[in-house]
Amino acid sequence: MNWEENVRNVVPYTPGEQPRGRDVIKLNTNENPYPPAPGVTEALMQIRPEEYSLYPDPDADALRECLAAYHGVGKEQVFTGVGSDDVLAMAFLTFFNSGKPILFPDVTYSFYDVWAELFRIPYETRALREDFTIDPKDYRTDCGGVVFPNPNAPTGILETLDTVEEIVRANPGAAVIVDEAYIDFAGIGGRSALDLLERYENLLVVRTFSKSRSLAGMRIGYAIGSEKMIAYLQDVKFSFNSYTMNLPSQRAGIASVQDEAYFQKRLRQLISTRERTKRELGRLGFAFSDSRSNFLFVSHDEIPAKELFEALKEAGIYVRYFEKPRIDNYLRISVGTDEAMDTLLAFLERYIEGRKES
Ligand code: PMP
Repeated sequence: MNWEENVRNVVPYTPGEQPRGRDVIKLNTNENPYPPAPGVTEALMQIRPEEYSLYPDPDADALRECLAAYHGVGKEQVFTGVGSDDVLAMAFLTFFNSGKPILFPDVTYSFYDVWAELFRIPYETRALREDFTIDPKDYRTDCGGVVFPNPNAPTGILETLDTVEEIVRANPGAAVIVDEAYIDFAGIGGRSALDLLERYENLLVVRTFSKSRSLAGMRIGYAIGSEKMIAYLQDVKFSFNSYTMNLPSQRAGIASVQDEAYFQKRLRQLISTRERTKRELGRLGFAFSDSRSNFLFVSHDEIPAKELFEALKEAGIYVRYFEKPRIDNYLRISVGTDEAMDTLLAFLERYIEGRKES
């Protein structure tokens, strides 16, 4: 007998690189290029030293109340965690417990299969259509639950509320988790699954402060669902670690939600940069889906994505490349400031020209 035979052996999720010390243009982890609302820094500075010696509120009540008021739901419908990764992991552990396979798209957030493996939840993927959209009919089957992001990652494609509802309606016997990490960037017509909550007790909508609220470093995520679902989630969380969210994160989250004008202003700015970048990339021979998130998923008609990825990295421009079936000729490029996008576009233009000449 070897002790290593008893180890929980997992293949971990690979997060995007966080280069330190090198001056790079970082467009690889969908971070927001702008600072959080000014009130966030203010709130953090106001924390008194003696507050740090106490445990934070394990229920994160003040933040939950603030989010409940913002979304027009009850506090008992809100669950918070250390980024939406923590919230999603807790939700997998809580709701995907039937022994039947859970379902998610073949091209999607690459943490889902990692959690499924970690928690020994059987899973099956459902192939997206050729254009990377979801066919809701694929989810009309007896299963252990469903999870998908909307907009999807890494494609950026937004599904309509009808498609989302069709999936939820088809699965009254299982939890359906809609991961809305990027929904704030969906703009006009981007309807959240929150609008369905009143009608479906089995629907959980997961959100994050990491992207649209520029707070990836604070690790704030939350879920909204029926009171019943949230109570089950709380029970699992309190069976695992009571003090998940630290005090500064709870305070920072509240301050962010309180400044709606700043939030909307930055969203408009980012969406406008995204749309301009789409036009420019189109001019350079890139094809892409109509991303409604804060990243673009692009492929070039002549140059392999891997080659571009490496050339960009060499030039200090970090984007994301996934060596995976169906998407290994795409780059995922986060939307940064106008200046960062100009540097990227100028590099690509030069590179494409240089390649034609040689
Ligand atoms: N869901 C999706 C689809 C994501 O892309 C990410 C970011 N990696 C997350 C959830 C998790 O983000 P966070 O833990 O920072 O909230």
